[in-house]
Amino acid sequence: MAEQFDVVVIGAGPAGYHAAIRAAQLGLKTACIDAALGKDGKPALGGTCLRVGCIPSKALLDSSRQYWNMGHIFDQHGISFNDAKIDVNKMVGRKDAIVKQFTGGIAQLFKANKVATYYGFGQLKAGNLVTVKQHDGSEVELKGTNVIIAAGSDSIELPFAKFDGKHIVDNVGALDFTEVPKRLAVIGAGVIGLELGSVWKRLGSEVVILEALPEFLAAADAEVAKVAAKEFKKQGLDIRLNAKVSKTEIKGEEVIVTYTDAEGEKTLTVDKLLVAVGRRAATNGLLADGTGVQVNERGQIVVDDHCHTGVDGVWAVGDCVRGPMLAHKGFEEGIAVAELIAGLPGHVNFDTIPWVIYTEPELAWVGKTEAQLKAEGIPYKAGSFPFAANGRAVAMVEPAGFVKVLAHAETDRVLGMHLVGANVSELVHEGVLTMEFSGSSDDLARICHAHPSLSEAVHDAAMAVTKRAIHKAN
Ligand SMILES: Cc1cc2nc3c(=O)[nH]c(=O)nc-3n(C[C@H](O)[C@H](O)[C@H](O)COP(=O)(O)OP(=O)(O)OC[C@H]3O[C@@H](n4cnc5c(N)ncnc54)[C@H](O)[C@@H]3O)c2cc1C
Repeated sequence: MAEQFDVVVIGAGPAGYHAAIRAAQLGLKTACIDAALGKDGKPALGGTCLRVGCIPSKALLDSSRQYWNMGHIFDQHGISFNDAKIDVNKMVGRKDAIVKQFTGGIAQLFKANKVATYYGFGQLKAGNLVTVKQHDGSEVELKGTNVIIAAGSDSIELPFAKFDGKHIVDNVGALDFTEVPKRLAVIGAGVIGLELGSVWKRLGSEVVILEALPEFLAAADAEVAKVAAKEFKKQGLDIRLNAKVSKTEIKGEEVIVTYTDAEGEKTLTVDKLLVAVGRRAATNGLLADGTGVQVNERGQIVVDDHCHTGVDGVWAVGDCVRGPMLAHKGFEEGIAVAELIAGLPGHVNFDTIPWVIYTEPELAWVGKTEAQLKAEGIPYKAGSFPFAANGRAVAMVEPAGFVKVLAHAETDRVLGMHLVGANVSELVHEGVLTMEFSGSSDDLARICHAHPSLSEAVHDAAMAVTKRAIHKAN
């Protein structure tokens, strides 16, 4: 006989654990199922984000940044040293400890919130029944008045570059190299390719990033992408656009990558190849016949604006549905669905989801780009401010980049904020907040910002919208 719950969540990644904890907070009897195992072979909650995504990549980005700064920035502070060394195993060990702390933290939060946790693979059957094949081989059946699918995503594998875990890897492998590869190729100049490419470049790899598209970071504001491309080039990241990979071959300990660009066919020989061409909804084996849940041609679960699948009591959130594959988008959807189930007005505002790329400099944005506003015929005014004129940024030896505020030409309502520079992953939230409150550039310009701080660049950019920035000529 199936155990009955108000809410059964499949997947304990960012979307699933937020849904489960919020549902439990609201007094709903909640279960959450997750199939993942950590590096130690034990169940690890937290999904891609905590195990092999956001958190471990940021741990390595931070370690590699400290190392890079020793060789490239410290000298400007008058700091010298004799022999900088990187112990890759220690660095990866630090990352693993952080992962363990946070994945274990989710288990504790589940316990504290009385979320019943099942470790194994869940399959949805008709009638909101979920069977769980547990790691010990046993099977249990749960019934949810509501079922929230939060199955997440997996790396896309290219047919001509199959992962072998050693020479050709995805993010999982690239977070766990045991030594700095002398030569690393990356397929895909997206967020994951740029972040993990940066990690190994800073530690000494020769990194070549092959991108099939002709434009660099097409989703970002064009000026932001231009500054980023210039800075990455200075760091020695070799980004080749219009480069379509057609073949790879592992020969001994080397990988030979064949690609075509405007000049014709070329080959590149490397020690490791990271394939970072995107992720696909993880829906294999998730749905038994007859559930009525629809899956689209991209493998995503079809949902409406409120994450409802159209099947009574069945919802889906996070990477396995439409929308940006971002942890915080999943957080918001998970919470919104739990609140909708509890009769509250749960809602996600897709117009104010921030995007961040944690390279050096960081890139961040929220809302529309200038190109989008032009294409949509929306009249706008822009104000920008360079970090080179911001006292704090210069004192930090972080003068690269700028902040740009876009506001409606008539109403002055902020429509977008685009940033490239130090700590812009934090600063972008001034734009998120302003847009969420339907604020204007004038609102931002009239808010007192501490001096000296990087956030003054946001203040000055907002003032520049109406040509009244103090620290630059307007
Ligand atoms: C290298 C890398 C870096 C990233 N960095 C960032 C970042 O800085 N910021 C950001 O916002 N996003 C980042 N992301 C993306 C982010 O990790 C995802 O958007 C996020 O994890 C999606 O959350 P989710 O809950 O939808 O799915 P997931 O995190 O994928 O979790 C889904 C969980 O469900 C489990 N599961 C799946 N199917 C079943 C089943 N049938 N039964 C039981 N369990 C199941 C899986 O084992 C998994 O634990 C990064 C991703 C990668 C790969």
